[in-house]
Amino acid sequence: MTSYAYFHKQFVPLSEAKIGIMTHCLHYGTAVFEGIRGNWNSQQQQIYLFRPKQHYQRMHNGCRVIKIDLPYSVDELIQITIEMLQKSGFKEDVYVRPVAYKSAEALGVRLHDVADDFFVFAIPWGRYLDVDKAKCGVSSWRRPDDNVIPPQAKITGLYANNALAKSDAIEHGFDEAIMLDQAGHISEGTGENIFLVINGKLVTPAIYNNTLMGITRDTAIKLAQNELGIETIERNITRYELYTADECFLTGTAAHITPVAEIDHRKIGNGEIGQITKKLQKIYSDVIRGNNPKYLDWCTAVYKK
Ligand code: PMP
Repeated sequence: MTSYAYFHKQFVPLSEAKIGIMTHCLHYGTAVFEGIRGNWNSQQQQIYLFRPKQHYQRMHNGCRVIKIDLPYSVDELIQITIEMLQKSGFKEDVYVRPVAYKSAEALGVRLHDVADDFFVFAIPWGRYLDVDKAKCGVSSWRRPDDNVIPPQAKITGLYANNALAKSDAIEHGFDEAIMLDQAGHISEGTGENIFLVINGKLVTPAIYNNTLMGITRDTAIKLAQNELGIETIERNITRYELYTADECFLTGTAAHITPVAEIDHRKIGNGEIGQITKKLQKIYSDVIRGNNPKYLDWCTAVYKK
C-alpha cells in the first residue's frame, strides 16, 4: 500500500514529498498545522473524518494570524483530504496532518514577502497517550500569553513550548504534562485540554487561560450536556482543585478522552477511571466512528458507499 500526500498542488507518494533545507518555516516555525482523525468503522468498511470543517476553519484562522495565504476554502480542503485518503486506501484509524507553511527558500525573520504553500498527508495512528489512565505532572513550563504567540493558532514555532513540557514530563516518569498559564491557573496538556469533575459538574479552563479551544473539548462539552445533562463551567482553576477533583480527564484529537489517574503522585478520586469520564468515553467513541445517528453531521465519510 502506498501512502499519498497532497504536495505542491498534486497527489504524490508520501516518500516523494520533500522540502528543501532553506525552507522558511523550518528556520522560524512559520507554519500552521492541524491534526484530524479519520476513524475506521470496520462494520461499515468506512473511515469517518471527525469534524474536519472545524479543524480547517481553525487552520484558516491560524493562517490569518501568521499571514499565510491559504488559497483553498474549507470545503476544498476537506475534498483534498478525502481524495488523498482514498488514494492511500487505509483500513484503520488514521491521523491526518495538514500544514500551511511559509514555503519560500528564503532566510530572514519576517512574515511578509515569503511565499506560502499547503500540504496534507495521513499516517496510521492508534492511541496517542498509550495508557488506559494517565499519570500527569504539573510542568514548570507555562503556556504563553496571547500577545507572546496566540495559543489559539496552531503555529509550529509555538509547539517548542509544548515539546519542552512533554519531554520534561516523560523524563520525570509521567505520561503527560499539565501546563499552567502565566498567572498560575491550570491551562492544558501539551496536546490535550483538561477537564475536572467537581460536585457533579465539569470544570475546564477558559480561553483567557491560554488554552487552545479544542474541538474535542467542544465535543465533550456538548455530549456531556446533551447526553448526560451535565453542565460545563469554564473558569480559572487552581492547583488545589486539580489535586482534589473527583475525576479528571484529557481531551484531544490524538488522545480522544483519556482518564487521568494521578497528578504529581496524588491519586485523583480513588485512582480509577471515574464514572462520568467512563460514560463520556463510551458516548464519544461511538460518535467519532459514525455509530450514533444523532451526530452524523460531525462525521465525513471518506469512501463512497
Ligand atoms: N491543546 C493543545 C495545545 C493542542 O495542540 C491540542 C491538539 N490540537 C489540543 C489542546 C486539543 O485540541 P483538539 O481537540 O482540537 O485536537
